[in-house]
Amino acid sequence: MARIVVKFGGTSVADIDRIKNAAGRIKAEADRGAEVVAVVSAMAGVTNQMVELTDQMGSLFDAREYDVIVSTGEQSNAGLMALALQTLGVQARSWLGWQIPIRTDGVHGKARITGIETGELERRLTGGEVAVVSGFQGLGPDGRITTLGRGGSDLTAVALAGALGAERCDIYTDVDGIYTSDPRIVAKAKKLAAVTYEEMLEMASLGSNVLQTRSVELAMNHGVRLQVRSAFSDAPGTFVVKEDEIVEQQIVSGISDSKDEAKITLLRVADRPGVAAGIFGPLADAAINVDMIVQNISEDGKTDLTFTVGKGDLQSAARLLQNNQADIGYEQLVQDPDVVKISVVGVGMRSHAGVAQKMFQTLAEKGINIQVISTSEIKVSVLIAEEYGELAVRALHAAYDLDTD
Ligand code: ADP
Ligand code: ASP
Ligand code: MG
Repeated sequence: MARIVVKFGGTSVADIDRIKNAAGRIKAEADRGAEVVAVVSAMAGVTNQMVELTDQMGSLFDAREYDVIVSTGEQSNAGLMALALQTLGVQARSWLGWQIPIRTDGVHGKARITGIETGELERRLTGGEVAVVSGFQGLGPDGRITTLGRGGSDLTAVALAGALGAERCDIYTDVDGIYTSDPRIVAKAKKLAAVTYEEMLEMASLGSNVLQTRSVELAMNHGVRLQVRSAFSDAPGTFVVKEDEIVEQQIVSGISDSKDEAKITLLRVADRPGVAAGIFGPLADAAINVDMIVQNISEDGKTDLTFTVGKGDLQSAARLLQNNQADIGYEQLVQDPDVVKISVVGVGMRSHAGVAQKMFQTLAEKGINIQVISTSEIKVSVLIAEEYGELAVRALHAAYDLDTD
């Protein structure tokens, strides 16, 4: 019998009517004879409210209690969804992360899944019961609730699909698929019939938050067949697949933008071995991720070093570097939170030249200055002033012929 995992995001279960709508879709799958696991998010906005309440409580921060608080929205929605299904005559029960259990490491707030014990869940699925699972939460080695990072219900769904050997994992959301750009920014964005795991991984990590990055990584590693589709229409969604399954590959599949960027420049750094390690070592120790890096060496043997960190890490990164100024040996630190990273992604880049050049040319024609560039085999990213972000995305979208007619 087909076994599938379906996941409903926050807007798809934002109130009682929407939970009932989602329950109808789950029932339809069960009626077609599938064994169904339904993963639910919190109602849209609830997790943010919980984070806000935690912030208001003050400075003493305990990540274990943070997880207790922010995971509550998924708990109540699992219960509500089980009730909605029972009302429709479907045999269903709710499962919290610890009840399955979904085991994680102890990094509260962004825990990694280490294993899922599926025995009892499978027994009940085989017996015809729909399993409604709270997304976003697991059980840490300390016996306490953990959460899987923002957007983590996607990860719950993919991990369960992998562990249960599900035929498919359908991610129901408020758009009917994955688009060439965020449709909220680019009205002419086109829905993709399919996208490769690699492209989706790049797009997600570069700001296209339609899927959580770690969920795409897991789906790729375990070959989970993922579909992103609308909870509000029957239109077919977008499949995330292996490269050889794509019939007509575009050179560029998507343009992503990430506003969660901040730039730090260290002026007149001594040009000697060990300096970069002296700068990035303390940042790594403080779990601050550094992304793009450029270095300019001037003739007098001094270097300007520019790099980016997440906006939320800017203050702590700057403080750390200022505290170490004497050891590192630089003259001035300049910080700029008003930047955005724009990326062009496509596996076709491997075999086609000129993709980066088209990007630079298009931005030049719009008078947009590029501050930092980074590339990989299937993407080119540039850092520009935040005020030009939307203009740049739209111009690039047109330049790579991605606009709908
Ligand atoms: P959910 O609450 O269902 O998890 P999310 O808000 O996490 O939904 O993800 C859906 C949103 O992702 C869409 O509303 C859309 O604005 C945004 N998004 C960003 N980039 C893309 C893209 N390339 N394709 C589709 N949606 C995108
Ligand atoms: N509710 C959680 C969040 O808002 C998890 C999720 O929706 O995927 O981040
Ligand atoms: Mg999401």
